[in-house]
Amino acid sequence: MTKRAMIIGGGIAGPVTAMALRQAGIDSDVYEAYDRGADGVGAFLTLAVNGLEALRLLGLHDLVCELGVDTPRMEMSNGRGRLLASFRQPGRTLKRADLYRALRDEAVRRGVRVHYGKRLTDAETTADGVRAVFADGSTAEGDLLVGADGLRSRTRTLIDPGAPRARHVGLLNTGGFARGVTVPGRPGTNHFIFGRRCFFGYLVHPDGEVWWFANPPSRREPTPEELAAITPAQWRARLVELFRDDAGPMLDIIGATEHILPGWNTYDFPTVPKWSGGRMVIIGDAAHATSPSSGQGASMAIEDAVVLARCLRDVPGTRDAFAAFERLRRTRVERVVAQGRRNGSGKAPGPFGALFRDLTLPLFVRQMDRRNALAWMHDHRISWDDRVTATSG
Ligand SMILES: Cc1cc2nc3c(=O)[nH]c(=O)nc-3n(C[C@H](O)[C@H](O)[C@H](O)COP(=O)(O)OP(=O)(O)OC[C@H]3O[C@@H](n4cnc5c(N)ncnc54)[C@H](O)[C@@H]3O)c2cc1C
Repeated sequence: MTKRAMIIGGGIAGPVTAMALRQAGIDSDVYEAYDRGADGVGAFLTLAVNGLEALRLLGLHDLVCELGVDTPRMEMSNGRGRLLASFRQPGRTLKRADLYRALRDEAVRRGVRVHYGKRLTDAETTADGVRAVFADGSTAEGDLLVGADGLRSRTRTLIDPGAPRARHVGLLNTGGFARGVTVPGRPGTNHFIFGRRCFFGYLVHPDGEVWWFANPPSRREPTPEELAAITPAQWRARLVELFRDDAGPMLDIIGATEHILPGWNTYDFPTVPKWSGGRMVIIGDAAHATSPSSGQGASMAIEDAVVLARCLRDVPGTRDAFAAFERLRRTRVERVVAQGRRNGSGKAPGPFGALFRDLTLPLFVRQMDRRNALAWMHDHRISWDDRVTATSG
């Protein structure tokens, strides 16, 4: 192995990049801010088929598909119980903690070194590489640094101190896992309900557990302290109030959930002007977070990882490789972010907007389905063998 990369962040982009770089002949270390014990945090997400196919290039497809449940269908209803749309959209839905754990364990099995409790605070260029500084006072050196450190990326601000802040999309998130409740729907269908006052999503796992989330609208961005101050009982009461007048299994599901997850804000990043500087680059949410409504954030992180590894494998010179990576990725990921924004706008539309949505959505979805209008998103395939050049784009 010739080069050595330091990867900041052990979420999705981090370990996948480490494995992709290894496949490209580049050694790497992953530095994760939290201790291993933090793996249990979070809800679930759906990996779209394009993300799953990108994992296949690294021999990770089967590993990931041992987790979670296939979710090939989506159904959308309104708060009066009317089915608005039902369509195919293949994907695999997994608990976030299971996905993180599986990717990190596999990276370690393949020889990647993962260091926990290492929060990047600073980085400086040396004569022939980069030195990373961590909150515990330790340092590390490598030939290049990949910031896979998510929405609040420290690497992003080290590359560009004037980098924009993430945009709050006007929705909160909470959710949980319910047991012992019978709800409509078969395993394999993601059910989405546009309640009168709040959006709700759920799926039934084959073992009977119901996985769910809700997006209470919030015009204002609550501070982390304000969110942390809301007790589980208050979340429960608030959700019950929000879904009080809606048709659907929401109240049963919430009632059958022992632990309601503490709420969190939802953001996206329409554009981050600088993705790289010197020997540092950002990928995944650090470079282009999309609202969860796109269902593509994790898949974009995985695609980034594969493309970045190909660029570093093929393009001589780190800076030119980073430039090629940005040329190959920027247009696609910003289009996904814009799509996520559009998808999310129907979740809290007000009474007239809701009426318009209920009238137009069935037609719109049928047309989209017929024209295969999202093929650009889901049918995108990356080739591992095609060579990247300094002018690819
Ligand atoms: C509610 C919700 C639902 C979602 N649903 C979906 C979905 O259905 N489908 C989908 O594809 N995507 C979904 N997403 C988006 C998806 O989770 C992200 O796009 C994806 O996790 C991005 O991966 P990442 O590795 O870039 O960032 P992350 O997964 O956020 O990982 C970043 C890692 O970096 C670490 N870190 C942060 N700062 C530092 C530091 N200074 N030093 C060291 N380590 C650091 C963090 O602890 C973390 O482990 C959803 C997101 C949310 C919030």
